[in-house]
Amino acid sequence: MEKIVSLCKRRGFIYPGSEIYGGLSGTWDYGPLGVALKQNVKDIWWRMLVGGRDDMYGVDAAILMNPRAWEASGHVAGFSDPLVECAKCKRRFRADHVGEKCPECGGSLGESRQFNMMFKTQIGATDDASAITYLRPETAGGIFVNFKNVVDSFHPKLPFGIAQIGKAFRNEIAPRDFIFRVRELEQMEVEYFVRPEAWEKSFEEWRSEVYRYTDAIGIPRSQIHELEVPDGERAHYSKRTIDFEFDFPFGRKELYGLAYRTDFDLSSHANASGQDLSYLDEEKKERLVPHVVEPSFGVDRTVLAILSSAYTEDELGGEPRTYLKFNKSVAPIKAAVFPLLKNKPELVKKARKVYESLKADSSKLKAIAWDDNGNIGKRYRRQDEIGTPACITIDFQTLEDDTVTLRNRDTGEQERVSVDSLASRIA
Ligand code: ATP
Repeated sequence: MEKIVSLCKRRGFIYPGSEIYGGLSGTWDYGPLGVALKQNVKDIWWRMLVGGRDDMYGVDAAILMNPRAWEASGHVAGFSDPLVECAKCKRRFRADHVGEKCPECGGSLGESRQFNMMFKTQIGATDDASAITYLRPETAGGIFVNFKNVVDSFHPKLPFGIAQIGKAFRNEIAPRDFIFRVRELEQMEVEYFVRPEAWEKSFEEWRSEVYRYTDAIGIPRSQIHELEVPDGERAHYSKRTIDFEFDFPFGRKELYGLAYRTDFDLSSHANASGQDLSYLDEEKKERLVPHVVEPSFGVDRTVLAILSSAYTEDELGGEPRTYLKFNKSVAPIKAAVFPLLKNKPELVKKARKVYESLKADSSKLKAIAWDDNGNIGKRYRRQDEIGTPACITIDFQTLEDDTVTLRNRDTGEQERVSVDSLASRIA
């Protein structure tokens, strides 16, 4: 894990938050390559599960919400983890993550108490209790409060879903394991509204949608394990929950969740707001409160699953190397273009032309890199380390027959291909 954290910092994927001030626990900053990787994770999710489906609607709700919404959802009263404090060193831990003794100093741990994980803030210029609101602890809340709006604007037929990608904030008692448990996180969530008797079909459908997505971003199925959350451990309103766990370097832990939430959310918001959040099924001439199936994806945990499954150490040409075996779809840079020698203007000019045309062709800015520093071997290693699937070298033969060498990151093999075919080869 230390190796991944250090590669991420060195190569500009992820830095410790507020680092020059000694950091801020539970926060990490994405650098240029991390932003590109994370953007791909989110774009593919949105394209596949929202834009690519006829039954999905997207929203981007405010992070600050009327606090009554968090009372209705049960977060004010119950979004908490059990906290224990060490009598000796005063360190605090999540009670369900430690034993009887302090893991740091061996001191005895006091009574466990519930600690609410929502970040409180104030809104407006007054500072009395009426000004208190919260940074949202999950994106789902912003979806439920817009249920009626989307129904009124689009009249969707059941089943249909509303999706949102955005930041959420949790005052985790013990943030840890790099970007696995952070205090400022990003989520991709779907609330899928169904007729009560049809929830199982939609649950199964979203269960396979999870794998359609992880396949697309290259997270190996062999490292994902479903955990059927047993009765008594689920939230009281949930009739079924599956945790999708991943083999992280520090153990098997939750990557995503899929829950059947009954009509708990819509009914609670209807009661608390006094608004009618029922749905008129025109075909069946029936008014009902839809039930909900909720797949919930963490962006940061997705990035970490991608990084840790892609991290590879091997030997190439008799030398050890470290590389990120990213799936093409998420690689922050799809291809790098090199002139064989940087002091030969005709090579540089031709390489520049190839670079510009590929860049114009690629949908993402920065998806094509230019490198003319050091020898070719060093350039290959640099690109391998950041997971670039293809390297293109322009040499003297290019000037004669318009072909280049295309090198494969995983095998190190090179082949001669025409410049014309490059765009489709690296797509
Ligand atoms: P955990 O048990 O690990 O605390 P959770 O069950 O509280 O997680 P959910 O409330 O189901 O998590 O949140 C949905 C998803 O959001 C999780 O599956 C995970 O991907 C992501 N997530 C939740 N908390 C964090 C966090 N502190 N840091 C990063 N991602 C998180």
